[in-house]
Amino acid sequence: PVRSLTSGNAGKERTLAMIKPDGVSGNHTEKIKEAILESGFGIAKEIVTSFNEDSASRFYAEHSLKKFFVSLIKYITRGQVLVMVLEKENAVADWRSLMGPTDAQEAKISHPNSIRAMCGLNIEQNCVHGSDSLQSARREIAFFFGDMSSGSVNFSILNYISGLI
Ligand code: UDP
Repeated sequence: PVRSLTSGNAGKERTLAMIKPDGVSGNHTEKIKEAILESGFGIAKEIVTSFNEDSASRFYAEHSLKKFFVSLIKYITRGQVLVMVLEKENAVADWRSLMGPTDAQEAKISHPNSIRAMCGLNIEQNCVHGSDSLQSARREIAFFFGDMSSGSVNFSILNYISGLI
């Protein structure tokens, strides 16, 4: 009887997927979404948005000391992104595997059927993002969609409020 209460979500895991500016501007969105659905993911939430320098630096804070950081921020802020919450068993690992390795040139050789092999250009412009762990997934989903259950406030609401005071 307890199981029936949760059966709709039993075994499901959530991860954050993002089509980066090169993927959106290169018209790869439909192809990528088809691959996502064909691989058995559900798309639980979806938003088209864009980063500014501030939100991009917060999203990629773990890379702030890396040599590629400035270039990464410039790249990720250059256009619209499509952010999705994907749902399926083993979603975090399975989306990472469908994306392929970080370096799109390497992906073309070692994982030719991956999304980065199809749409990516190099180690920076690699077309898609995916959370690298369950913990990152929770943080990144809350970053874009809020996490009302833990009492935090959505950034867009915060921005709105800070504009009022
Ligand atoms: N990146 C880069 N140069 C590098 C490594 C990474 O420009 O040498 C960019 C690339 O867009 C990558 C993002 O920084 O997707 C985040 O890096 P991470 O190592 O977390 O790779 P991912 O988890 O996205 O495969």
